[in-house]
Amino acid sequence: MSTQAITRRHTHLVQIDHVQVGAEAPVVVQSMTNTDTADAAGTAQQVKELSDAGSEMVRITVNSPEAAAKVAEIRQRLDDMGCNTPLIGDFHFNGERLLAEFPDCAQALSKYRINPGNVGKGAKGDEKFAYMIRTAAEYGKAVRIGVNWGSLDQSLAKRMMDANLASADPKSPDEVMKEALIVSALESAQKAVDLGLPENKIILSCKVSAVQDLIQVYRDLGARCRYPLHLGLTEAGMGSKGIVASTAALSVLLQEGIGDTIRISLTPEPGASRTQEVVVGQEILQTMGLRSFTPLVTACPGCGRTTSTVFQELARDIQHYLREQMPVWRLQYPGVESLNVAVMGCVVNGPGESKLADIGISLPGTGETPVAPVYVDGERKITLKGDNMAAEFLAIVQEYVETNYGEGGIKRSQSRVIPIKLS
Ligand code: SF4
Repeated sequence: MSTQAITRRHTHLVQIDHVQVGAEAPVVVQSMTNTDTADAAGTAQQVKELSDAGSEMVRITVNSPEAAAKVAEIRQRLDDMGCNTPLIGDFHFNGERLLAEFPDCAQALSKYRINPGNVGKGAKGDEKFAYMIRTAAEYGKAVRIGVNWGSLDQSLAKRMMDANLASADPKSPDEVMKEALIVSALESAQKAVDLGLPENKIILSCKVSAVQDLIQVYRDLGARCRYPLHLGLTEAGMGSKGIVASTAALSVLLQEGIGDTIRISLTPEPGASRTQEVVVGQEILQTMGLRSFTPLVTACPGCGRTTSTVFQELARDIQHYLREQMPVWRLQYPGVESLNVAVMGCVVNGPGESKLADIGISLPGTGETPVAPVYVDGERKITLKGDNMAAEFLAIVQEYVETNYGEGGIKRSQSRVIPIKLS
């Protein structure tokens, strides 16, 4: 892996309980629940699941008095489960009323998300925005000013469209709308500062649902402020489309040093775990070399040389096993998240790729002798054969982890993340 440093935007550092966002802090992975917040037990359980999967902050919707009334209980349930993940309250339309009526909700949340397009119009909207900002300042909470393409402040958009029409060199409506997103975020941030919220309590986002638009908007926004940026492609979609679109957009921006916290807005399949969005966020950061969360499995795609499913099953089982161990391994074996395991399908690239990994297995392709050499730190260590290769390989992985990342292990706490510089 290349270790060429990535130059990150120089931003304020925002402290959200024990989590740091911005400046030199690692890019933070966050997520959002899809439970009814009024269901305190169900919401606390899903926050715990997201947290266990690696989400470092979790947002919950606070959309009604019934929801706001349960936020403190959700916090307490999480504390009782030993989960200190900061909770973010997502407010739209009635946030000022909920914060006023439920001070324990205002206190229990670690950060408020405010959408300037959904606080209301004119003087009334200004009043509501001011109330939420003053509440955040009073309780010492951070705020994300989260602008969204689908709920852009219409009075601002109209004002900018009218000014554009009257200008000698009008831009396209699309360009004006993108500029309006950025202006909405920056003007709202300035209003918040004028109302008494410190600059180091503010994070900005300008989410759109098209990849090229997102890249353009965030490049521009990033060049015009020192606030940390929350990155995410809104309404990314379901399955591979959502994953690919999010990865395409975020990786371009992250490579340019833009983005301090990320959320992947995947639509889960019915009944599927909400934690997939956390896994995808982590894998984007890890495959880019920006952070390490879980040992990665390098596996070849398979081809006509792998006519059995043995190697696909082994690659799947190994990845599953490694992720399952992480809640315990993270504490017992510091640095194990950088472990790299290769599972290869035949002799063509198998030995070479396996030697490059910490541990690799090169399975026999069709027509090859049914043996599987295992490489450890580049050296051929053992050759497996028979029906029990998967279990034997997992035992070798476990032994490697204990030896190298346990007390006195030479790889313990070794970091392989790409260093960052500040612009
Ligand atoms: S390593 Fe072998 S099985 Fe895997 S894709 Fe390459 S040729 Fe096919």
